[in-house]
Amino acid sequence: MNNQWKSIAQSIKAIHGDRGFIPLHEPTFCGKELEYVTDCIQTGWVSSVGKYVDEFEHRLAEYVGVKRAVAVVNGTAALHIALKIAGVKSNDEVFIPALTFIATANAVSYIQAIPHFIDVSEQTLGIDPVKLEEHIREIGIIKNGQLINKLTGRVIRAVVPMHTFGHPVDINPIIDICDRYGLVLVEDAAESLGSFYKGKHTGGLGLVGAISFNGNKIITTGGGGAILTNDEKLADYAKHITTTAKFPHRWEYRHDEIGYNYRMPNINAAIGCAQLEKIDVFISSKRELTKHYQQLFEKVEGVQVFNEPSFGKSNYWLQTLLLDENSHSRDSVLDLLNSEGVMARPIWTPLNELMPYAHCPKADLSVTNQMNKRVINIPSTPLQGDYNG
Ligand SMILES: *Cc1c(COP(=O)(O)O)cnc(C)c1O
Repeated sequence: MNNQWKSIAQSIKAIHGDRGFIPLHEPTFCGKELEYVTDCIQTGWVSSVGKYVDEFEHRLAEYVGVKRAVAVVNGTAALHIALKIAGVKSNDEVFIPALTFIATANAVSYIQAIPHFIDVSEQTLGIDPVKLEEHIREIGIIKNGQLINKLTGRVIRAVVPMHTFGHPVDINPIIDICDRYGLVLVEDAAESLGSFYKGKHTGGLGLVGAISFNGNKIITTGGGGAILTNDEKLADYAKHITTTAKFPHRWEYRHDEIGYNYRMPNINAAIGCAQLEKIDVFISSKRELTKHYQQLFEKVEGVQVFNEPSFGKSNYWLQTLLLDENSHSRDSVLDLLNSEGVMARPIWTPLNELMPYAHCPKADLSVTNQMNKRVINIPSTPLQGDYNG
């Protein structure tokens, strides 16, 4: 096994143009980033006001195909506000996948709501709609049109599917479950800008969606996020509470509730405008990279390159391997790749195993536990040379 993975590491390095250590994901700046940032600095508009924020919000909404996008400081803040404007309240439960980045659960906690963990599907690595429904039948009861958790007595308010590594969740059956049980759909589309479900862009499939533009995501604004919705009133409200809930006035400070200072600075939005101009190049380069990996792993027994589902198109943000547990130990593979200068890491620890979330309600998580031992990510930066396409 050692020799096999050493030679795989060499091949991965060769694909990336052997540059010593190959990181998991680096941002790529190949467009007008410097020009737009320079414009911010020369005009003085670097902070909370400026034309790039509006421009970025418009272009983003257009790209995703939603009525409105509201740019904020990061993806976690976007998710926090998305849940709040979707009507999630203190002491509500919210269904989220057990296998996601901790921000999904943290955003739920910021409104004193409680994450309720659902198992994932081996096909998408996102919430499994069949298991979601089974679990609801087991623990749920409808009272006054609201789904109640029989075991805790709490209202279950929303479902938050997350499109793992850019691969779209099978969302139509989840929408159907939401309709039948009176649940609100909020998408954690932090990783899936440029990913589609049956021709529709992810992030615009529920009442509200959230995206992240952190440095490691498919496009970056340095740090940033956005709230997406087709509901104009919700978008206006999101804008209002992410900008300290202040009424516009030439000089007076009037705020009508406790808002947040979550607005994306203009200088970050400037980077975002330039990055968005290149997203198609990034996505086609990532798909090219997947093909290289498919060729490489075709000959390796017990390893598959994780592919987009038949019903969707993935942005292939992070390249993913599915190891056959019986032929490859996850930690030995990670150890070998990292020692050879190829950064690799496992999928997240299931959130129910983490101290702050160990007490939360959960469904059967057998697939989550399996996937945790089998899924790793390997270097995913768009390939050199593809940038100018
Ligand atoms: C990146 C990410 C977030 C949070 O985004 P930040 O911009 O880092 O706050 C939320 N959910 C998921 C699934 C993510 O991958």
